[in-house]
Amino acid sequence: MRGHRGRRGLHAPPALSVADTGCGSPAACGDGPARPPARRITPGFASGGRGVARYVRSGGRAARHPPRGRDPGGGSRGARAAARARGERSQLMWTVWAYSEQGDTALEVLAAGRALADQSRGIVVSIGLDDPACRIAHGADEAWRIPLPSDAPPPADVAARALLRAMEPEPPDVLLAGATRLGNEAMARVAQSLGVGCATGCTELAMGVGGELAVERRCYGGRLVARQALRGRPRMATVQPRRFEPLQPDPARRGVVRELPEDAAGPAVRVLSAEPRALGHRDIGKARALVAAGRGVRSREDLAMLEALAALLGGEVAGSRPLTDDLKWLPANVKVGLSGRTVRPDLYVACGISGQVEHVVGMRGARTVVSINADPDAPIHAEADYALVGDLYVLVPALIRALQERC
Ligand SMILES: Cc1cc2nc3c(=O)[nH]c(=O)nc-3n(C[C@H](O)[C@H](O)[C@H](O)COP(=O)(O)OP(=O)(O)OC[C@H]3O[C@@H](n4cnc5c(N)ncnc54)[C@H](O)[C@@H]3O)c2cc1C
Repeated sequence: MRGHRGRRGLHAPPALSVADTGCGSPAACGDGPARPPARRITPGFASGGRGVARYVRSGGRAARHPPRGRDPGGGSRGARAAARARGERSQLMWTVWAYSEQGDTALEVLAAGRALADQSRGIVVSIGLDDPACRIAHGADEAWRIPLPSDAPPPADVAARALLRAMEPEPPDVLLAGATRLGNEAMARVAQSLGVGCATGCTELAMGVGGELAVERRCYGGRLVARQALRGRPRMATVQPRRFEPLQPDPARRGVVRELPEDAAGPAVRVLSAEPRALGHRDIGKARALVAAGRGVRSREDLAMLEALAALLGGEVAGSRPLTDDLKWLPANVKVGLSGRTVRPDLYVACGISGQVEHVVGMRGARTVVSINADPDAPIHAEADYALVGDLYVLVPALIRALQERC
């Protein structure tokens, strides 16, 4: 067994230079070739770039709610409102809007927005479908609700129109959304309408010293980290689900609740019928322990061994792409990686998984990683806190026996 400490630091992907996605750049930038020429911007990244990550990690998780009636940055809310009414709008006092159509993601995006708002002594507005009081308790100064005829998430065009209408008097300084399928599409529509850029799938966010929104995003299948700066108004970004921890709720917090006007036009696309995909019942995103099966597992029947280990650990079985997509031994919704789920369990046991980057990007956030692989040079060992080099058909039964003896 080899212990690997600081695996994330050692194997953090190299940084790509910074591209300016400010006003006027193509909307909803992806990894496509139409990106503006890359250039370095050191001012926003005071400590060579890692300061961005440091700020958001501490700000996103440890940020405390401001006392009631106080400006999140320290001044009174009344004084801030008066300053705004007088037109004294500080460049640094950001109004951050945080939108998501999904309840859990809405709270994560809100936490990311709260950290940015606190950094700029500004305010954060949560826009979503869920209970506004809950979002106020989780750190929003204002919670707006998009009215909908049904409980289903709004189609992207409806959400985009609601956001654009809400911006008519004044756009926010920053508009964040969850990087879900609907969230990315809604933001692309908003960005295109406004003619501003949008960085999708961001993993870190911070306010740059020049007032730009500094973001980090993984690109080229997670091999590189792109650091980008967004200028203009609004600075738009979508954030990876499960990247930011929701803030602890404070039921005593007070804020403004608002219902956005109804959408008269209705969705441009009418869904005639929907058939659910054949998926497993497991939600690997919520499991605290995951035992992930890779191509080193020889037959579908052998998965029972991993199920037994997962049950003893109180977790679920997940898998790499060959097992879900090629062999179809596992349902598609338990695939971990670039084209599957991003998971952050307390424990991730990778069994017979080589550790290709497309898989690893989905499990890097796990608190403790155990790799079981016969090949001592398999890349998965470098991602692991505990690397078990050996045959999984020997090691997994041994782990099961050891756990059974302890029960
Ligand atoms: C665009 C794109 C998106 C992708 N998205 C994903 C994704 O979301 N998720 C994903 O997983 N992959 C994804 N892939 C595929 C990815 O590149 C790898 O091919 C895949 O992750 C490999 O799966 P694996 O590690 O299970 O298999 P392999 O790479 O074949 O590794 C099997 C491992 O098992 C070990 N092994 C064999 N027998 C034993 C034994 N008895 N005991 C112990 N160890 C043993 C071997 O040493 C080997 O390291 C994507 C690829 C592309 C191009």
